[in-house]
Amino acid sequence: MTKCLECGSEIKQTEGRRPRKFCDNKGKCKGAYWLKNKPKEPRYVLKSTLDSVVAKYEGLLSVIPKGNRIDINHLIDAARGRDASGINEDELNLPSQIEKYEAEIRTLGESSLAKRRKLFLEGKIRELKNGKL
Ligand SMILES: [Zn+2]
Repeated sequence: MTKCLECGSEIKQTEGRRPRKFCDNKGKCKGAYWLKNKPKEPRYVLKSTLDSVVAKYEGLLSVIPKGNRIDINHLIDAARGRDASGINEDELNLPSQIEKYEAEIRTLGESSLAKRRKLFLEGKIRELKNGKL
């Protein structure tokens, strides 16, 4: 007498047939069992891979001057297109762009089209203020 590997209920084996390991629970026991017991991915890397990653990391570290290793502001400035003074021309023009949008909002009426335009412009202003443009 054999028992289902998942739920433990008894399985009637048919003589002359391959022995069954799971009960006839519409395949649920078999699926659940393999989900719990499936072989896990090996959690290791080859020593040579580890060595090459460490070497690459140490190589990167060695070209960064010691004083700047935790100062990433210059990278952020570069990404935002700022020069050494920390000023980006687009950022200088932000207030005027926001004023332009706000001026347009004041001219808009109460029509549904005007309301939609207003929402759009308010979104643009929010984006500008959050530095997303
Ligand atoms: Zn079962």
